[in-house]
Amino acid sequence: MRWSFKIARVAGIDVRIHLTFLLLPLWFAFNGYQHGGAPAAIGAAVFSLLVFLCVLLHEFGHALTAQRYGIRTADITLWPIGGVARLERLPDQPMQELVVALAGPAVNVVIAAVLALALGLGGAFHDPGADANVLQLNNLPLELLIANVWLVIFNLIPAFPMDGGRVLRALLATRLPYPRATQIAANVGQGCAILFGFWAFFGGGGPTLVLIAFFIFFAAGQEATAAQMRDLTRNVRLDEALITDFKTLALDATLADAVALLLRGSQHDFPVVNSAGQVAGVLTRQDLIAALGSENGGPRLRVAEVMRTDIPSVPAGASFETAFRAMQECACPAVPVVDRAGRLVGLITPENVGEMMMIHSVLAHGGQPAWRTAAASGDASPAELAARATRG
Ligand SMILES: [Zn+2]
Repeated sequence: MRWSFKIARVAGIDVRIHLTFLLLPLWFAFNGYQHGGAPAAIGAAVFSLLVFLCVLLHEFGHALTAQRYGIRTADITLWPIGGVARLERLPDQPMQELVVALAGPAVNVVIAAVLALALGLGGAFHDPGADANVLQLNNLPLELLIANVWLVIFNLIPAFPMDGGRVLRALLATRLPYPRATQIAANVGQGCAILFGFWAFFGGGGPTLVLIAFFIFFAAGQEATAAQMRDLTRNVRLDEALITDFKTLALDATLADAVALLLRGSQHDFPVVNSAGQVAGVLTRQDLIAALGSENGGPRLRVAEVMRTDIPSVPAGASFETAFRAMQECACPAVPVVDRAGRLVGLITPENVGEMMMIHSVLAHGGQPAWRTAAASGDASPAELAARATRG
């Protein structure tokens, strides 16, 4: 079942809403009804939908600005907690990222300014007799103005995944390498989240704000990892990330042979190849152990009966990005890389990619001067640098 569905298409961008989003006006209406009956219920529901219209316009601010730099947006989805515009990629230039990030909050600034002008700047205050918990329909413009000001403030908190985090990263990236800028921005974001969490917890901000602080904290960490991965996948060649020192199993090998290989070395998952060296499947450690313990299994079983055949293999000429995506999509422990004849030339594994990422981040931080000069002059491939790193 799909949890989100399309409600409109504007400027070539699908607008979707997540099913849970529908709970929002209902919840607001229910809350309003408890405080002020049917009129308050309607007022609250309308208010929640108008706020989300502002959120949608905010997302269009990002999407349409990105479009000016030739970046398409797959769709914009509204969730009960906010909107998400799925840009197909991030801008390459820090200044472009800055403009795209600022375009969203700028929309809310404009909405707030228009509402303020319409209200005649201070001509319309709350009716002093009104219950603060009840949203009256005639208070809607003012409430909406306040909501937009909050949207601007909240989104400019310098923490991922808020726009403020991207603004900060873009500013840092004009002077620092991109991964380093991301790391600093993520740390600042997590620091903000901790301060915000403390304030929410001890200052009586309520459990919702504490939850938001948690959310920001983890999102900041994830963003940093995702950005480093992105940076890595762009700058690494597939052959540099390839494991070429590994053991294979023949199609007619038994599980006992596999166990021997598993125990003698540090390899966990074994490609199974036919007599021509072509990949027939992959025997994973998990499947091996399960088959050994199963009723009709045992050490004499052939690996061909246990191996996974649904793991895709990647052509050796593919980009690292393609191979990495294949590995992520199949969620498998090892992906075989094959030549044109389907013969195995190497493996990529999540562990190896993780190691590359560590080396990559050390290089981005400067690392030892020897690496830096080597990297700068371009006379050493990352694989060579990795070898130097292990040598110390
Ligand atoms: Zn935004």
